[in-house]
Amino acid sequence: MAGNMTFTIIKPTAIKNNYAGAILKMINEAGFVIKALKFTRISKTQAAAFYAVHEGKPFFKNLIKFMSSGPIITAILEKENAIEDFRELIGATNPENAKEGTVRKLFACSMTENAVHGSDSDENAQIEADFFFNRLEIYY
Ligand code: GDP
Repeated sequence: MAGNMTFTIIKPTAIKNNYAGAILKMINEAGFVIKALKFTRISKTQAAAFYAVHEGKPFFKNLIKFMSSGPIITAILEKENAIEDFRELIGATNPENAKEGTVRKLFACSMTENAVHGSDSDENAQIEADFFFNRLEIYY
């Protein structure tokens, strides 16, 4: 899927606050096509595996506690220049620094509870998509 795919998670607080529909609408209106979609939840162990790169950082424990605290929506998205364009759409990791009109500016509560995840490279998009979806669950 290199080049034109990214992977996203709508995080627990955004689901709890009923922002999922608005966020998916923004994603579609920005030109992303949904290739796979799942409403699910993950355990602390699974969240720690997903965010293993951050293990040992001061925010790690809170992050995995939060990510396992309630249901999430995961999706694979297709668009030219998907990684960069999606990160532009969602805004900075810290919502205080996110541009006006971005998903995180509109829907994040804090740096940890920042509404959505977006892959940072083609390689990670593939790894993250594989974490949540099998081939039968992806529309080619
Ligand atoms: P992203 O690619 O913008 O999601 O950011 P990262 O991959 O660097 O971090 C993963 C997630 O960990 C972020 O989306 C935040 O929820 C959280 N996070 C990252 N850095 C910090 C931090 O310095 N403080 C806190 N509280 N959370 C952080």
